[in-house]
Amino acid sequence: MKIAILPGDGIGPEIMAQAVKVLNVLGEKFELESADVGGAGYAAHGHPLPPATLALAKSADAVLFGAVGDFKYDSLERSLRPEQAILGLRKELSLFANLRPAILYPELAGASTLKPEVVSGLDILIVRELTGDIYFGKPRGVRECPDGPFKGEREGFDTMRYAESEIRRIAHVAFQAAQKRSGRVTSVDKANVLETFQFWRDIVTEVHKDYPGIELEHMYVDNAAMQLVRAPKKFDVIVTGNMFGDILSDCAAMLTGSIGMLPSASLDASNKGLYEPSHGSAPDIAGKGIANPLATILSAAMMLRYSFGKAEQAGRIENAVKAVLAQGLRTADIFEAGTTRVGTEEMGNAVVKALG
Ligand code: NAD
Repeated sequence: MKIAILPGDGIGPEIMAQAVKVLNVLGEKFELESADVGGAGYAAHGHPLPPATLALAKSADAVLFGAVGDFKYDSLERSLRPEQAILGLRKELSLFANLRPAILYPELAGASTLKPEVVSGLDILIVRELTGDIYFGKPRGVRECPDGPFKGEREGFDTMRYAESEIRRIAHVAFQAAQKRSGRVTSVDKANVLETFQFWRDIVTEVHKDYPGIELEHMYVDNAAMQLVRAPKKFDVIVTGNMFGDILSDCAAMLTGSIGMLPSASLDASNKGLYEPSHGSAPDIAGKGIANPLATILSAAMMLRYSFGKAEQAGRIENAVKAVLAQGLRTADIFEAGTTRVGTEEMGNAVVKALG
């Protein structure tokens, strides 16, 4: 069980240290090896995804990733910016399926901006396609506008595209995930306007024929955004493309009170995965010792479940997180009156203690 530990930038190293502590007390034989990535990779080796880091990620059985990004690198050309590391890893490791559970722990119902009755008991899974769509489609760039009312002006352009097999494989991931849950899939698209997503809808409908026990519903992305804040509990598994999934998963994150609570898994066809919190490097709070480490700790639990088949150990970590919340311990992002405010390290230590 070789794990590449890539802490990254901002709060990345602080939250990763807590997840590593948790892994180290489970009594398993993990081989942990760390490397620089993102801004840290650029600063030390001149590239956000240095060759040695990529080689480590490829040779490991799983990657545990903190976060990348720092505004001080915003003036670098795009290919050298920290965020390119995560895009590069997704592409190089063929991590096409991003699983983002959004679970509202009962203790945090008051931390959500929505009314407790709307969100309490929320447990949804967003399955986002991760290596296609407008984020990777070519051609892209800035050019002279070739036609239309703005002909001759400069214009920015990107290409939205999905190949049939790309849609099929992510649809299978969603239907199989639904088989282990309540058996409902909502496929989110924009089939009324975009050719790419009419095609998406047609292929998802075809794949659905392999899963007669699963209920499939199609929904336009604008309606899905509205329903996510109006009645989020009506969803179970949501499957969607890269860009819509990016936006909807952050929306789902806030339902749960804080993005600091949300883990994610990005898997390839054989369940090798990269596991990371759903949030970024939070430069506004980096170095203050106040970041919430629970999303990273829960990402480590997802790693044990999906890449190493250790559901029992994953459950132990998840129960330890529930236990510290039940004890009333809260980092600043989820703090409410009547609870105890703790820092990043204290929260990590409390999870370790709860693990016994
Ligand atoms: P962000 O997720 O870093 O922060 C958004 C807000 O949430 C901030 O107020 C932050 O303080 C708070 N927050 C995030 N994680 C938290 C945690 N664990 N505990 C408490 N509060 C937390 O998003 P942003 O500010 O838009 O982006 C900051 C940088 O992160 C940018 O450079 C961006 O490109 C990068 N980014 C990286 C990833 C990634 O590494 N996968 C993802 C998203 C953004």
